[in-house]
Amino acid sequence: MVEKSINLNAFNGSMDKVGPRLKEFIITLVNSIKELETEKIQTDQNTILNLWPTKTLEEILSDPLFYEKPITQPSLLTLDQYFNSLQDKKVSPEIIKSLSLVNVDYRGFDNNIFHGQVVIRNDLVSSIREVFKRILTETDFPLTSVFPISMFNWNSSSKLNNSSVFDWRLVSNILNNYEISDHSVGAAIDINPVLNPWMCKGLENSPNFPYNPDKKGTLYKDSDVVKIFKEAGWKWGGDWENSKDWMHFYRPEIMFKYYGKVEVME
Ligand SMILES: [Zn+2]
Repeated sequence: MVEKSINLNAFNGSMDKVGPRLKEFIITLVNSIKELETEKIQTDQNTILNLWPTKTLEEILSDPLFYEKPITQPSLLTLDQYFNSLQDKKVSPEIIKSLSLVNVDYRGFDNNIFHGQVVIRNDLVSSIREVFKRILTETDFPLTSVFPISMFNWNSSSKLNNSSVFDWRLVSNILNNYEISDHSVGAAIDINPVLNPWMCKGLENSPNFPYNPDKKGTLYKDSDVVKIFKEAGWKWGGDWENSKDWMHFYRPEIMFKYYGKVEVME
């Protein structure tokens, strides 16, 4: 395992300048990611959400068109299950308080309507509800599934083209350092991640599922879904210059507010 350190630049300054509450948050996050890395990752059928109950994970992923196969509607998380999932993952209490479990409806690739859920910051609840309502009523854009990644045992969610918001992890950047992710404060959503991969300039990151804007469920400049997110105040990773995070919509002003709050706490 490669030793990684926290990228202090991600916190807009050195650790000395970080307030005690953020310091505690960072330490909890780092411990959480270390646990995740050392854990033997279980990807068997019992540990993932059963969207295609007759198939094993291996069988699902060997089908290049798995994401458009009809899924089985799973039961939604109850509030108790939701809180337990966050506590099991040792999410910091401050973050738990800032999050909500939100029901959203979406269109599947078979054109049926499914009930999904996202875990998102309290102050983004009405925005995400509006976005999902508009995607469903104004477009024919399909999604494979929209469920909290705890329902995938915090694993396999993006591999299975699940769209999700909150993810209790750090991301490692190009310098192999950890950075705080806007997903870990519930301020970003990934849409159909298999069809809309993260791509470094000049690199093809998903040889099995290459980015192809002609495929249904794919995001591209001026697509209806991108327009709807932008009109609701979201920024899009497809607009970046040096890399493309086609799946990623985010709220930079919330990350700024988050760190701004930390400045006040010093
Ligand atoms: Zn993302």
